[in-house]
Amino acid sequence: MITILTGGTGGAKFVQGVVAAVPPADVTVIVNTGDDLTWWGLHVSPDLDSVAYALAGLLCRERGWGVEGDTFECLARMQRLGAQSWFQLGDRDLATHLRRTQLLASGRTLTEATAEIARSLHISARILPMSNDRVETRIVTDTGELSFQEYFVRERYRVPVHGVHFSGAAGARPAPGVLDALRHTDAVLIAPSNPVTSIGPILAVPGIRAALCETHARVAAISPIVGGAAVSGPAVELMRMRGLTTSIAGVAEAYRDFLDVLIADQRDAATAPAVEQLGISVCLTNTMMDSDHAKLALAQATLEAVPQRRQRAKVNSAR
Ligand code: GDP
Repeated sequence: MITILTGGTGGAKFVQGVVAAVPPADVTVIVNTGDDLTWWGLHVSPDLDSVAYALAGLLCRERGWGVEGDTFECLARMQRLGAQSWFQLGDRDLATHLRRTQLLASGRTLTEATAEIARSLHISARILPMSNDRVETRIVTDTGELSFQEYFVRERYRVPVHGVHFSGAAGARPAPGVLDALRHTDAVLIAPSNPVTSIGPILAVPGIRAALCETHARVAAISPIVGGAAVSGPAVELMRMRGLTTSIAGVAEAYRDFLDVLIADQRDAATAPAVEQLGISVCLTNTMMDSDHAKLALAQATLEAVPQRRQRAKVNSAR
């Protein structure tokens, strides 16, 4: 059994590689919901959807989000009718949000709604939201707080960030199945996702970080930092804001209390000793997932780096 923690861009590509390497039914994916938003009255879960579309073979390769070949007729009509239109929803994608909202309104939990959507898309891996409680990533800027999507999509992450917090996290519970999937698994893989705004919200749900420290499975993380820079998105800026080193060492610092192995790109070899100094092993490989073959090779290299179980639980020295 393999358990993956992920966001929606680098993470979704990585999940595709893992299900090409092992039977999808052996894979549980725990997904960030800190980016969720209510848009046109609909419950949108961008990371859950990217992972589901990736697993169903529907994810738009070019954009990295939404459905391949989607049209945007509804968005254009909504814009004409005076609705906000900075958050782009394709027509086929819209059906997912309508269905999720309908299931939630009928009393299902987000876990149940996610499972129902995954079943309809013939996905055999298990997709779990991190929590059924509302946890909202809030970005502190000069002009006040923004939701993650306001920061990321509307402002295109150009505004300086002074802080990030996860509203509602302290009182949130891990969704059913999450802690079990961390405790009873052969390996935990932290996808190459933003450590602050994709994995950060998951770790902020009480109980999840402790389960990662205590599990007997080895924990590997794949660095989203390649050649000292993010492949896409604001990971470097947000890591700097958090006081983390802006290199693969910063990724290791973010996870140091539970991480056994960091999978980093060959071009970051010079920084490997700084990671090893933290007591974390480094496995160097190609981590750029620019083809199906590269995704599979990265998943295989990661799985090869985590074969044994831990001798003992990691000490929880979380900052
Ligand atoms: P979000 O939910 O859209 O923020 O998506 P994620 O957090 O899952 O993914 C964003 C991160 O993925 C960024 O920090 C990128 O640097 C990283 N990323 C994207 N593509 C790749 C890739 O091919 N290889 C690696 N190593 N990282 C990647």
